[in-house]
Amino acid sequence: MRELREVLQETFGYPDFRPGQQAVVEAALAHRDVLGVLPTGSGKTLCYQLPSRLNPGLVVVVSPLLALMADQVARLQAAGDKRVVALSSRLSPQDHAWVLAHLGEYHVVFMAPETLLKPAVLAKVAALGVALFVVDEAHCISAWGPDFRPAYLKLGGAIARIRPASTMALTATAPRRVQQDIVQGLGLRDPVLAVASVDRPNVFLGVEQVADPTAKRRRLLALVAAVAGPTIVYFDSKAQAEATSAALVAAGVKAAYYHAGLNPEQRDLIQHQFMGDRMRVICATSAFGMGIDKNDVRLVVYTHVPESLEAYSQGIGRAGRDGGLAVSVVLVAPGDLARAAQFAGSLPEAGVIHTVFKHPDAYQDFDDPQVSLILAYIKAGFDEAAVTQRLAARLTERGQASAAMAAFLTTTGCHRAALVAHFDAPAVAHHALCCGPVTPAVLQQVAPSASPLPQPSAWREIFANIFRIKP
Ligand SMILES: [Zn+2]
Repeated sequence: MRELREVLQETFGYPDFRPGQQAVVEAALAHRDVLGVLPTGSGKTLCYQLPSRLNPGLVVVVSPLLALMADQVARLQAAGDKRVVALSSRLSPQDHAWVLAHLGEYHVVFMAPETLLKPAVLAKVAALGVALFVVDEAHCISAWGPDFRPAYLKLGGAIARIRPASTMALTATAPRRVQQDIVQGLGLRDPVLAVASVDRPNVFLGVEQVADPTAKRRRLLALVAAVAGPTIVYFDSKAQAEATSAALVAAGVKAAYYHAGLNPEQRDLIQHQFMGDRMRVICATSAFGMGIDKNDVRLVVYTHVPESLEAYSQGIGRAGRDGGLAVSVVLVAPGDLARAAQFAGSLPEAGVIHTVFKHPDAYQDFDDPQVSLILAYIKAGFDEAAVTQRLAARLTERGQASAAMAAFLTTTGCHRAALVAHFDAPAVAHHALCCGPVTPAVLQQVAPSASPLPQPSAWREIFANIFRIKP
């Protein structure tokens, strides 16, 4: 396929395809359905961008996040394609109506699944005919995964009605059972599977035991100071994300917090500041991440036990996308694993589901993942009985996911070997910059020019001020 590579070089300026890209592009050009699992997020756009340059028809891209759509529209426009638009709630009602009426004049149209499923939009798209239907972040269809979006469950029906020449499902992470969910849920016909390995050889897989929550905070701040590059720190609590952000700011670090309690404008602002290097550290809950396409993230820290290896591999996959060395680390204090297992084994009580159904507006600002999930179901049009049933069905899956995460963290062998085995990827060998505690030697490799750490006494003072503990 010499010609394809020439188009890639001449039109997009890339020397060669990344793993998996070419198979996805070729499948679309041959009007085949295709599932692409491409861990480096930045390589996914090209998978539909290139076929859309070579084939004239309409390309519809379903994407879960407004910020992600805006980013992709800007990227395609910068690459010279001006007939690109996002049909979203960000448009004024007049503009929305105009774009919908003139949809056939566009080349690539982005929209959220909820937008596509509106009767008027679906009817218009089906009537126009679609050359390539793209489902981005396709793992959102799977209840196994951390980013489950109930509206994705209805995309299969929409695709059956639209009958595109080819359907392309793209995701950065999907073990075999999630791949099956995607293929079945979207109704892909004899799809080409292009699965690149989940392994990110340039990302150190750190796992560290700490004595207690105070030691965890101290270790976190030391790591942030030592690496000195763009950093994402994940928390399972909104309050902790805020408090740690405040501690970092007090220590002179450009930091901000990000969670579901912020309004969309605040979230966009922080995301843009981070992308534009005006913010170095984001203290975030799991609300932050999907669609983050920053190449030079050097450090990703989990201060809690991730709910699954799927969530974990997505999180650490945001580090080192430029190919340079990066560090990820999970900080584990005594009791963390037990708490994660307990959380995985609990469901919202029937009373909670009922209350959220009765007063959904009262829960919009709630930062509880289970409440968020119920709200997502309500938005997607599911009734109370169906939601109760689905949440109960998820319980076993969540327990298994939690157990797999615990096994990964507590293995006495190579963490990387355990991770790739979970994802059915080819085995890897442990190497010098592979996994385990983040030693000074590892930090030296990742951040050779970073400034020395602040004195321990300075940190103690900062902690004392922020967390009101005795220095
Ligand atoms: Zn290893």
